[in-house]
Amino acid sequence: MIVVMKSDATAEQVEHMVNHIVSLGMQPQVLVGTQRTVIAAIGDERQGLSEALEPGEGVEKVMPILAPYKRASSELKSERTVVRARGLEVGGTRVAVIAGPCSVESEDQIVSLARTLKAQGASGLRGGAFKPRTSPYSFQGHKEDGLKMLAAARDATGLAIVTEVMAPEHVPMLARYADVLQIGARNMQNYQLLQAVGDSGKPALLKRGMSATIDEFLLAAEYILDRGNPDVILCERGVRTFEDHTRFTLPLASVPYLQDRSHLPVVVDPSHGTGKAKLVERMSKAAVAAGADGLIVEVHADPEHAMSDGSQTITPAMFEGLMKTCKRVAEAVDRTM
Ligand code: PEP
Ligand code: MN
Repeated sequence: MIVVMKSDATAEQVEHMVNHIVSLGMQPQVLVGTQRTVIAAIGDERQGLSEALEPGEGVEKVMPILAPYKRASSELKSERTVVRARGLEVGGTRVAVIAGPCSVESEDQIVSLARTLKAQGASGLRGGAFKPRTSPYSFQGHKEDGLKMLAAARDATGLAIVTEVMAPEHVPMLARYADVLQIGARNMQNYQLLQAVGDSGKPALLKRGMSATIDEFLLAAEYILDRGNPDVILCERGVRTFEDHTRFTLPLASVPYLQDRSHLPVVVDPSHGTGKAKLVERMSKAAVAAGADGLIVEVHADPEHAMSDGSQTITPAMFEGLMKTCKRVAEAVDRTM
C-alpha cells in the first residue's frame, strides 16, 4: 500500500500516519520527495486497509499495490487455469465452443439440436431450464423437466451441459444434471449463490454483470474460488451503455485485460453481447482474434419460433459458417478450434 501525502502535509501528520500504519500491523517506510512525502506500508494488504488510511489528515490518496482479488489474480498464480468438464476444455490452446438454445424447449428440440451442434464442432451444450426473464409474464423455463431434457441430450451426444442456476437452494439439484453451472449476469453479485456454486464441486461459468466493473467481476469470481472451487470460467457478455443499436455493448478489450489480471479462462457471448443474430458471426471472429478462450452462442433450429431471445439466435446453418470462419481466425492467432 502506498500512502501519498498532500504537498502541504505537516511533519506531525506524516508522523501520525507512520504510527497508524504500525498500529495496523504494517511496516512504514517514509520517502521524502521534493514536492511531497510518500509512505510505503509494507505487509499484508488486507481488504479495508485503504479505508483505514484514507481518512488520515494530510493524506492525498492511498494506492493498493496488489489486486483486491487474491485467488483470481495472476499475481498469485501465473500458470493459466484450464477448466475441464467431459469433452469441454476451456483455457487450453483450443478455442472452446458452447452452443445451444437460450431456453430448453422440448426433449426433441434439444436432443436433435445437440446432435447437429456436436457434428459441427461444439464441445458444450447450453440451454436454460431456469430462465431469468425481465418480465414475470415471459416463459420462465421448464425447470427440473428442462434439466432432464438436457441430460437426455448429453446421453445422446456426450456434450457437456452448461445451464444457469438462479438460486442457492437449487444448486444441489442443478449439480445433479449439469456439468457446468452458469451464473447469469443478473446474479453476478448474488453472493450466496456464488458461495453455493463454490461449494457444489462443479465448474462455474460466471457471466459479467451488465454494469459490473472488471474488479467487481473478478471479486465475484473470488467468492467461488474462495470456497475451494478452482474451476471458474469468466464470460464477457456485454455491458449496458448509452448505445441502443445493440442490446448491450460488447467490450472485447476486456478479454486480453482479464487475461492479464487473472489466470482464469475467458469466453465471450456474442449473442447477448449484441442481441442481433446478424452480428454474432462477426463478433465471434473478433472475440477469437482478441484471444478469447471460448465462445458461448445461442443457436436454434427455428429462431423465429424460439421461446426466448429469438432475435439474437442463429440457425445451425449460420453456426456452421461461424465455425468455419472462426477456425481460420483461430489459426491466425495460433489456436485451434
Ligand atoms: C442466457 O445465457 O440465456 C442469459 C440469460 O444470459 P445473461 O445472464 O448473460 O443475460
Ligand atoms: Mn438468452
